[in-house]
Amino acid sequence: MDQKNLVAPSSLCWNPACSEYGNVDAGNIRKFGRTPAGTQRYQCKTCRQTLVETIGTVFYGRHCSQETILECLAMLADRNSLASIHRIKGVKEETVMAWLQLAAEHVERIEALLLANYHLTRAQLDALWTYVGNKGEKGAMPKPMSVASSGAA
Ligand SMILES: [Zn+2]
Repeated sequence: MDQKNLVAPSSLCWNPACSEYGNVDAGNIRKFGRTPAGTQRYQCKTCRQTLVETIGTVFYGRHCSQETILECLAMLADRNSLASIHRIKGVKEETVMAWLQLAAEHVERIEALLLANYHLTRAQLDALWTYVGNKGEKGAMPKPMSVASSGAA
């Protein structure tokens, strides 16, 4: 896969409950004034939710570009192994997993980005989150073994 430019955050709706969620240039986004800080604000005409451009910068400050990070996550969702991602993209397996952990804290935003840029299916997105356990739970850790007695004392 060649490096590609991500779609503009203002070209899609980021609300998972919206029928236009992740649809690029569907004609539902309009300019909607500015924030007090002067940032251009947009509104989805379908669900009335507003957004600003910075909604798309989930991985700000990481060593790799957001494009590279999303592409690795998209490859993972497309059933590529961590080993093959390492081979193709030159990104270490633990690095991809660290990105995925971070992505899991922003599930709605990451899914919108992946849907908009890589045309993944719902099933592929769900497969992605199974790598990190419970979807969307901030700081989710594997549950410890249940201590509840099962009768085998
Ligand atoms: Zn919407």
